Amino acid sequence: AAAFSQEFIDMPRPERPLKVAVIGAGLAGLSCAKYLSDAGHEPIVLEARDVLGGKVSAWQDKDGDWVETGLHIFFGAYPNVNQMFTELGIRDRLQWKSHSMIFAMPGQQTADGFQRFSRFEFPALLPAPLNGLVAILLNNEMLTFPEKIQFGIGLLPAILFGQKYVEECDSLTVSEWMKKQGVPDRVNDEVFIAMAKALNFIDPENLSMTVVLTALNRFLQETHGSKMAFLDGPPPTRLCQPMADYMLERGGELRMEQRISSILLNDDKTVKGLKMQDGSTVVADAYVSTMPVDILKLMLPQEWKPMPYFEKLNGLNGVPVINIHMWFDRKLTTVDHLLFSRSPLLSVYADMSLTCKGYRDDEKSMLELVFAPAKDWIGKPDEAIIEATMEELYRLFPNELNKDGSGAKLLKSAVVKTPLSVYEATAGRELYRPVQTSPISNFFLAGCFTKQKYLASMEGATFSGKLAARALSDAAMADTIPLKEAASAVAA
Ligand code: FAD
Repeated sequence: AAAFSQEFIDMPRPERPLKVAVIGAGLAGLSCAKYLSDAGHEPIVLEARDVLGGKVSAWQDKDGDWVETGLHIFFGAYPNVNQMFTELGIRDRLQWKSHSMIFAMPGQQTADGFQRFSRFEFPALLPAPLNGLVAILLNNEMLTFPEKIQFGIGLLPAILFGQKYVEECDSLTVSEWMKKQGVPDRVNDEVFIAMAKALNFIDPENLSMTVVLTALNRFLQETHGSKMAFLDGPPPTRLCQPMADYMLERGGELRMEQRISSILLNDDKTVKGLKMQDGSTVVADAYVSTMPVDILKLMLPQEWKPMPYFEKLNGLNGVPVINIHMWFDRKLTTVDHLLFSRSPLLSVYADMSLTCKGYRDDEKSMLELVFAPAKDWIGKPDEAIIEATMEELYRLFPNELNKDGSGAKLLKSAVVKTPLSVYEATAGRELYRPVQTSPISNFFLAGCFTKQKYLASMEGATFSGKLAARALSDAAMADTIPLKEAASAVAA
């Protein structure tokens, strides 16, 4: 990742810097703009909302407490994101946790009545894959030894045939793959329901096995791959703003509350400009869309729709997910880590008053919980969602929460619904993910749904922005982008 970043700085300076309109100030858009400015171009980032970050955006409620679009975890196996923190000089904002994966055991309690957790501990002194294997072998609470061996045998083809096999498995769901490889159902029930919900907010009956194998591959190949970090505060201020500042200091521009309403074409189907919702037009030399795939599909000009590159976007759809915040009047847990809930309605959760310096509270807990699969809940009122979540929490915190109201009290809550979030990675989706270079010479795509090997994640988004910046810079050097006489950035 460091070498790839350096290539932007080492590229020959363009004879005339290109004005590039980057649509969207999520991680893909901000990453693309950063690397375009490293390559000597002039990005103009157009963001529809009044907050940076897209799916990592966050805002303050009336009390000044932060509400986030999603509970976000950074992994050791995120080379481009980690490199971004280094390049921005903000590495200390990543709060790395102990190298463990912690699963709740709903319904099971310790002798003194507290929730039981089952831990996979990765020994610090062992390199990959040994640290992962020891972590799995030493945990006997979730899987028996014979179950682990059967799962290990099932994984052999992935180990022997590598990436090619991982990609071939996209035609199978996790459940289908487990059956085909003779892995006992209990492995699925104990581990993979939680993992599938954490990776893509859906169940193993729907998730592509490629997604799980991609994650396992990284975790087993890189010593720190599965190590997790929390950002030390809200992503818009702690990560996105430094990314924006970086490109602003190098001649870039950021325009907030600038929603594009359509893409205007020349006769040769190249982009002529962007029609904005306020009626103005933005004209640039080249354009990068980082809009989520569902919005992009609505925005495609008629003339582009029959082109196979754009047509296949119809195979991708956003998956619904709900992020919940619950503030309690006292501490519910002492675990400073991400927790896999292994409960029907929830995916992962964390007590942000412990895990995140910026949200620290020594007296009270703020649980942030991912509610998934959310298909049947996304249309329901917030009160119903909080009520259902409380039912799950009574089982997850048997000692701290009581239905009779005698335990910890819920002070307030916030529910953030994202009806169409990252693309739903059901079996067979890989075929539909577009590369960053489109058939239109001055139009490029980025966003976590575009083709790259890091799934629909912060790493995937950041890397896709970097790939789009590279493709665009290469096209500029090869003179394949039709330049405007004097690209004005804004025409009346
Ligand atoms: P987006 O963030 O969606 O950015 C697109 C931007 O385009 C937005 O800012 C949007 O406002 C803007 N836009 C849209 N339409 C227009 C328009 N017409 N004009 C101008 N601008 C427009 N990833 C992880 O790695 N780890 C996690 O733990 C994790 N947890 C998650 C939890 C939740 C609940 C969610 C929802 C996501 C999670 N993710 C996680 C995924 C991660 O957030 C995304 O993959 C990533 O942020 C996507 O970035 P992006 O730039 O591709 O898209």
